[in-house]
Amino acid sequence: MNDGLSAKLRGQYLQDMERGKLDVLVIGGGITGAGIAWDASNRGMKAGLVEMNDFASGASGKSAKVIHGGLIYLRQGKLRFVRESCTERALLRRCAPHLVKPLPVLLPIYRHRPGSYLASSIRLFAYDRLAGAKAGRRGRMYRREQTLSLENLLNSDALKGAAYCREYRADDARLTLEVLKAARMKGALMVNYAKVLGFIYRSGRVAGVQVEDRLTGIRYPILARQIVNAAGPWADQIRQMDNSLASEQLLLTKGVHLVVDYNKLPVRQAVCFDGPGGRRIFVIPKEPKTCIGMTGTPYQGSVETPDITDEDTRYALDTVNGLFPGIRLKQEDIEAGWCGLSAMFKPENGQSPDMTGKDGILISESGLITARPGNLTGFRKRAMSVVDLVAKHIQDEDGTIYPPCMTDRTPISGGDLNGLSYKRFKEMMLEQGALQGIGADPMRRLISRYGSNAKRLLDIYLASSTEERDEYKLLRAELIYSIEHEMTAAAEDFLMRRTGWVWFERETAERMIAPVLQIMGELLDWDEEERSRQWRLLEDQLQMAWGLGGGSLLERLPFDHDHHPAELTHPDEAAEQLTQT
Ligand SMILES: Cc1cc2nc3c(=O)[nH]c(=O)nc-3n(C[C@H](O)[C@H](O)[C@H](O)COP(=O)(O)OP(=O)(O)OC[C@H]3O[C@@H](n4cnc5c(N)ncnc54)[C@H](O)[C@@H]3O)c2cc1C
Repeated sequence: MNDGLSAKLRGQYLQDMERGKLDVLVIGGGITGAGIAWDASNRGMKAGLVEMNDFASGASGKSAKVIHGGLIYLRQGKLRFVRESCTERALLRRCAPHLVKPLPVLLPIYRHRPGSYLASSIRLFAYDRLAGAKAGRRGRMYRREQTLSLENLLNSDALKGAAYCREYRADDARLTLEVLKAARMKGALMVNYAKVLGFIYRSGRVAGVQVEDRLTGIRYPILARQIVNAAGPWADQIRQMDNSLASEQLLLTKGVHLVVDYNKLPVRQAVCFDGPGGRRIFVIPKEPKTCIGMTGTPYQGSVETPDITDEDTRYALDTVNGLFPGIRLKQEDIEAGWCGLSAMFKPENGQSPDMTGKDGILISESGLITARPGNLTGFRKRAMSVVDLVAKHIQDEDGTIYPPCMTDRTPISGGDLNGLSYKRFKEMMLEQGALQGIGADPMRRLISRYGSNAKRLLDIYLASSTEERDEYKLLRAELIYSIEHEMTAAAEDFLMRRTGWVWFERETAERMIAPVLQIMGELLDWDEEERSRQWRLLEDQLQMAWGLGGGSLLERLPFDHDHHPAELTHPDEAAEQLTQT
């Protein structure tokens, strides 16, 4: 079996799904769907998954990227949820050490603002106990002067002190991909750019889906014993297709993230606080950039096109400039941004919505299972509840028994370090990279992006016989890996979700657009028409990500704007450029 998630095998995976009846078909390739496919395939089920755009192109690639234990939910008294989140956070750190990195967070406390010093210290104490935090890793409370010495950019007026705790961060899109890759290694069939158009029913029960491959236009009827709707913010659209939207409906909130150069907002640790009107603001350093995130804006527009409004950017800049008075961020300092929707079910009894996404699963009359959306941290546990239910339905149907969940003992893809500590693994890989002439910085980036799979990448690099400059030779190896193991089907998949360059390394993205289009074109046999289409798709995405700082985005890109970059030169010439030093 080919264990890669290969873009070249998309058609074959769809045909395989069409030919053999699946145990479970998952709709949606965000973290929730990925977790379900992983758990189900781990238990030996025949699992399939279809995603209408790229994997993690929904909420799972547009979050604040914080793997948190849920300190904020302590205010709502959700002790069990917080304990579970802390356990899951620790598991994730073990399963994916290359992705999940410590993130110290400071929560400043001001007079005349919600949250007293005493209440914060009680919450922090409880949080550490629930997390089982060891001495040295526990949170701390700081008085005013200590707080200012930790973060001297903070507004000192009316500052009382701060709570300081240890959370984690992870690249959300890569986390989703690594979970999908782990599912693929267990045999799951998964395809991006494959959209569910409708359901197939047998005797009133949902028995399959009609799927369209959006890259070829070919349609596939796919049958499965159980179908799970893991479409996050789109879950109601899927339920509408099933005529089962009558019960609890989704409540959507919008979140916006803006990226500025680190030197413009050089915070020493993440800072989290409530802005005017209660919107939660996160300022997260991710050198060479700092990210400003705000969540919790009620949203009623189209699920497809949430966007960052002038009001959003003004609010973010005013609030951040108020909290860090020496900073004076301006609109033109914004280098990139993204906007995503969070979904939760609106309770029918008028209570406030439950943001924790715990337990509950909806089952329609036709048997469609809808997974409750929830945060990144708790994805494994939510998936377990769904797959337990799927297993029970299958057992009731024909007596087949599948084993219980094993994902708490299984590393995700890239996290299997063969018993080595992450530190030792990194040292070993750096040595191997040096032997191949790869510098420490690019090698470190590969390790934190691909974890143990960096070894495969090195093999590809070593086997490559091209005469390209080292940088492009490495890029080619990454693209080969990405196409064959991460189903990278479009240039934007690579530049945005596989590497994060568009958001966090804009200079690299600008430099790499032309070579990426060139090399992907060669590897995927794109003709001129396809190259132009890829450039247009990318241009639309770049406009959304980069068009925030004012002025025309295209004027700021470093190439001839009447042509897409790969068209600038004859393909032979472009290939030659890759080899020039
Ligand atoms: C701004 C923001 C910040 C956040 N910050 C954090 C954070 O810091 N930490 C944290 O833990 N959580 C955070 N969250 C929450 C978390 O990101 C989401 O709850 C989680 O990613 C939801 O995952 P999902 O798989 O349910 O949904 P999604 O990731 O949206 O996946 C659903 C997928 O279904 C696909 N789909 C829809 N219709 C179809 C169809 N017809 N056919 C095929 N596929 C279809 C969509 O294309 C989409 O990719 C944040 C969310 C947002 C929006």
